[in-house]
Formats: sequence, C-alpha cells, structure tokens
Amino acid sequence: AKAAGRNIVRFFEPEMQARAEMRFMLEAELRHAVEHDELRLYLQPQYDGERCMRGAEALLRWHHPRRGLISPASFIPIAEETGLIVELGDWVLRRACRLLTMPALAESPLRISVNVSPRQFHRIGFIDRVRDILAETGADASRLTFEVTESLVIDKVHQTVATMSELAALGIHFSIDDFGTGYSSLAYLKRLPINELKIDRSFIQDAPTDPNDAALVDAILSIADHLKIAVVAEGVETEAQAAFLASRTPMLYQGYLYCRPEPVEAFIQRVRDTQVS
Ligand code: C2E
Ligand code: CA
Ligand code: CA
Ligand code: CA
Repeated sequence: AKAAGRNIVRFFEPEMQARAEMRFMLEAELRHAVEHDELRLYLQPQYDGERCMRGAEALLRWHHPRRGLISPASFIPIAEETGLIVELGDWVLRRACRLLTMPALAESPLRISVNVSPRQFHRIGFIDRVRDILAETGADASRLTFEVTESLVIDKVHQTVATMSELAALGIHFSIDDFGTGYSSLAYLKRLPINELKIDRSFIQDAPTDPNDAALVDAILSIADHLKIAVVAEGVETEAQAAFLASRTPMLYQGYLYCRPEPVEAFIQRVRDTQVS
C-alpha cells in the first residue's frame, strides 16, 4: 500500500505541474488572442418541428495560430478564473449584436442566443455594458437570448432577480442552459423572468432507450408546459432521438443531426438560402 501510495504521488506531481504550466501559458496566450483577433464566432442553428430555422446559439472558438481551432471547453474555465471572461463575453455579445443587424438577419425573425458566464453576469456594471453594446450596434434587444446556468441563478438569487429583471425590461430573453444537471431546487423558475429551458444533451442521448432518461425529459417538458416556458432540446444527434422528441410537446431542436456549429459567413449564407426558398 505504501509503495502504491508513493507511486500515486509520483504520478500526480508532474501531471499537476504540467497542468499549472499549461494553464499559465493558456492565460497569457488568451490575453493575446483577445487583442489580436484570434477569436471566432460560430453559430449553431435551432429548428422547430417543421425543420424551419428559428434561431441560433453563438459559440466561441479560438483560432490559435499554431494549435489551430481550440474548443471553449478548454479555455472558458481559465477565462472565468482569471476574469478574462469579461472581455471575451463583451466580444461575443458585440459580434452577436452586429450579426443581428446584418441585412439577412435584420429582415428575419431569427433569435440569437449568447452564453453568459456567472462572473460576467454578476460583475458590477454588466447591465451598463449590455446597454452600451446594444446602443453601439443598434441591435434589437428583443431578439437576444442570454443562456445562463442553474448555478449562476442559485448562487446569488437576489442579485440575479434584480439583474435579470432589468435586462428583461430591455427585451432580452433568458434561457436556462443544461437544465436538469445542476441543482434540484426549481423555486427560482417562478421568481425569475425565464423564457426557455434547454434540456441537456445527457438526457437526450439515451431518452429513446432508457426509461429513466425518458421520464426526466417528460418531467422537464411538463414543468415547462405548466410554466409556459419554451424548450430547446440540445445535442440531438440521431433520428431515434429526434423521433422520440417529435412525439412530445412542440420544442426547438439543436444538434449535429441538423447542423454543426459553423462560422458566421456560412451561417449568414444559410439564412439567405432559407429566405430565398
Ligand atoms: P453549451 O452552452 O452547453 O453549448 C453546447 C455545446 O454542445 C457546444 O460545444 C456545441 O458545439 C455542442 N454540441 C452541439 N450539438 C451537439 C451534438 O449534437 N452533439 C455533441 N456531442 N455536441 C453538440 P462547444 O461549442 O464546444 O462549447 C462548449 C461550452 O463552452 C458551451 O456549452 C458553453 O458552456 C461554453 N461556451 C461556448 N461559447 C461560449 C461563450 O461565448 N461564452 C461563455 N461564457 N461560454 C461559452
Ligand atoms: Ca449554451
Ligand atoms: Ca448547453
Ligand atoms: Ca453543456
């Protein structure tokens, strides 16, 4: 046991150090990325039951000069810890707002959803930042949705009620991301201006074959139905999942089955093509 213990220590130490170095390097490079135009906005469409596009989620990508395209899953947590998320968040919101004002989008009823992280949301001055960006871009706030997590909501309920209410008054919608994976408390749904729930991919995945997951999806749909909140199913990958969902109450669908996240230019072209047909 002693030897094993020693082995474990020897195994973890270099790994932890490597991770710390990686984190340090990423932080410096991420700072550089924000200033040197290495960030990219990707869009993933959301469709209704008739496969008509209703909106899209904005997803951040980092186009690193040497490492290539980096997923937000590997740099958003670092951005959160270091506070860089504020700059990143502003960048994404500004791009999303500009996108809404482009002719193809401006003439459509499409909505754009933007992920807002806890540190960004709870920072003093967030509402003013949003107001400034709306004014600067001339975007219609009522076509914006902010996706927030349950933990963001629950950690500081009072502050959340105040901030959300002010933003809702501007016309912004709110969506609870990864719904069902976080806290068991649902009381906040009554107190906050929530327009949408996004059913997490983990529930969608096995819903067609696993009765437990199917029951959870149905429970979420029932809550949403009673509270008159819209639903987005995220991470739909297979026809079996789509068929399962299609037999339920109406919702929006987002996932690789329909469309992968794509660069702004490709997305705009897709919107144009849709309008022509
Ligand atoms: P999320 O908000 O839950 O976004 C959905 C993730 O699922 C995206 O990963 C998307 O590309 C992926 N996805 C979509 N359809 C499918 C599917 O059918 N199958 C599978 N396996 N995955 C699918 P992505 O783009 O790598 O983003 C990961 C996470 O990073 C996001 O999870 C979100 O939490 C965060 N993130 C992305 N962009 C931003 C941003 O601008 N700001 C903030 N604060 N967070 C962001
Ligand atoms: Ca999201
Ligand atoms: Ca999600
Ligand atoms: Ca997720």
